[in-house]
Amino acid sequence: MAEVDLAAILHNAREIRRRLGPRVALMGVVKANAYGHGAVAVARLLKEAGIEWLGVATAEEGAELREAGVTGPILVLGPSNREEMHLALTQSLDLTLVDEMGWHHLLEVCQNLSRPARVHLKVDTGMGRVGVAPDSVVSEWAPRLSAGVVRWQGLMSHLAESDAEDSSFTRHQLGTFLDVIEGLRQAKQALPPELHLANSAAALKYPGTHFTLVRVGIGLYGTEPWAPAFGLRPAMRLISRVTMVKRVKSGQSIGYGRTYVASRPTVIATVAVGYADGFPRSASNVGWMLLRGRRCPVVGRVSMDQTTIAVPDDVPVQPGDAVTLMGREGGEEIGARDWAAWSNTISYEVLTRIGPRVPRRYLGAGTPGPVD
Ligand SMILES: *Cc1c(COP(=O)(O)O)cnc(C)c1O
Repeated sequence: MAEVDLAAILHNAREIRRRLGPRVALMGVVKANAYGHGAVAVARLLKEAGIEWLGVATAEEGAELREAGVTGPILVLGPSNREEMHLALTQSLDLTLVDEMGWHHLLEVCQNLSRPARVHLKVDTGMGRVGVAPDSVVSEWAPRLSAGVVRWQGLMSHLAESDAEDSSFTRHQLGTFLDVIEGLRQAKQALPPELHLANSAAALKYPGTHFTLVRVGIGLYGTEPWAPAFGLRPAMRLISRVTMVKRVKSGQSIGYGRTYVASRPTVIATVAVGYADGFPRSASNVGWMLLRGRRCPVVGRVSMDQTTIAVPDDVPVQPGDAVTLMGREGGEEIGARDWAAWSNTISYEVLTRIGPRVPRRYLGAGTPGPVD
């Protein structure tokens, strides 16, 4: 079971808000099921707390929020095809425009539905994935977007390295973005109401990247290694339970591939979690769990639905006992970043892989006051 601490998410939103100027709006990024925390619950919480914008990856994700009654501006952060644009328009979602083909699709869809889309033009300042060339904005894009067929709502770009020690590439991208804005001013082109560049790390580290809006995902969930330095707390706790306990003899192997062989009599507990729940198979013989506040190593292969741990001799254990897979217990803590280390990845991937069959339970935030 995943326990999502809504109070922690609100706390993190406040910590981030505290570092923004009074006129900078906040976008809570709730794509990929709010990084595994539950998109509808997190979106409702953020709206209730007065967070101005929500960000999703696809029109489909945005539509899910609308169907749950979530109001206010929602930006689809990724590129959309014709069908997705159609859905976005009918659900009043803002769209990200990244290229020429997208522009033609957009015109078609606006015409078919007889309504203007709200559009954010994405400029590629160095991420290198999607977005229009910086030198095409003034000459090609601004005239089109200002002609009244669509509503030009935003100019945006995305940073490739804002979490790195070295700030030089972030400064380079910021410089390019500023040049585009300056070019529009000099050409006496109207600027769209929203200018946005920052993700979580930039929102916390580089005030110069804030412009009118910052797009914050991982910061809300509090799991990256830099989070504690900014007072952010992890919001997710994962617990499971012991299903069986046995004492095995020296020489007995455990699990698929027999990758673990007990070197002495050992208490083995089987835990009801596996890689189908998002517990990484690469934690086999490497990861650990907490039982009664004590670290217990994962022994043998993690399988789809079950994992085995070795329990220290002095720790009493029986079927039904709770096991902490992620979170704090006693003086010990296992974070998403520990899971990430076992799998050579980042906490983003760990969180978004928590499987759909893991029930999410929400610890209330009380009545959230506004995050301001
Ligand atoms: C996912 C995403 C974000 C959020 O990034 P974090 O590092 O999680 O804060 C911001 N902007 C865009 C365009 C994104 O796709």
